[in-house]
Amino acid sequence: MEYKIGKTRIILKTGDITEEDTQAIVNAANSTLMGGGGVDGAIHRKGGPSILEECKKIREKEYPEGLPTGEAVITTGGNLKAKYVIHTVGPVCHGKFTEREEKLLYNAYYNSLKIAKENKVKTISFPSISTGAYRCPIYNAAKTAIRAAVDFIKKENYLEQIRFVLFTEEIYEKYAEALKEIIDEI
Ligand code: ADP
Repeated sequence: MEYKIGKTRIILKTGDITEEDTQAIVNAANSTLMGGGGVDGAIHRKGGPSILEECKKIREKEYPEGLPTGEAVITTGGNLKAKYVIHTVGPVCHGKFTEREEKLLYNAYYNSLKIAKENKVKTISFPSISTGAYRCPIYNAAKTAIRAAVDFIKKENYLEQIRFVLFTEEIYEKYAEALKEIIDEI
């Protein structure tokens, strides 16, 4: 499914984000930036050790206590097709989604888009942040993700493509439902 706002296409698709050819892909990291399971593990495995080396430097220089939830940093993409990986930390939801989780998840998407623009990235892919191990309800997370994308596009008419690369058909359906609802509100 696709929807265009200004010059930016929002694209929903199923797939493995490590295969995407956008200029940047986003990693649903944890605050240690030292790798983990799920999409984080897949990105480090396929991208190779240089990504972890850069993450270690970022920890030392900028975030000795770890990357706070909702913030984002950028490294190169190592052996990936993508030139950059943007690492962000979504909230841990444990199944609940109050204003707090919503705001933190919104910030994770919005700050990733900001850092993309700062690095002249025009095409970017996101996974469904916080809906795996961090257990945010998928439909709520999808609405928040798309709302952040739409808000950014309206403010900064810069990006060409924002792809949401969803790992299963079930997650895709929830994102499609959320996008339709947001289109109706625009
Ligand atoms: P979090 O800790 O933020 O919840 P996870 O990696 O556990 O992160 O899960 C986030 C989402 O990423 C889940 O929907 C999961 O199915 C999905 N996912 C896992 N591997 C990949 C991949 N290679 N490409 C795209 N999505 C993936």
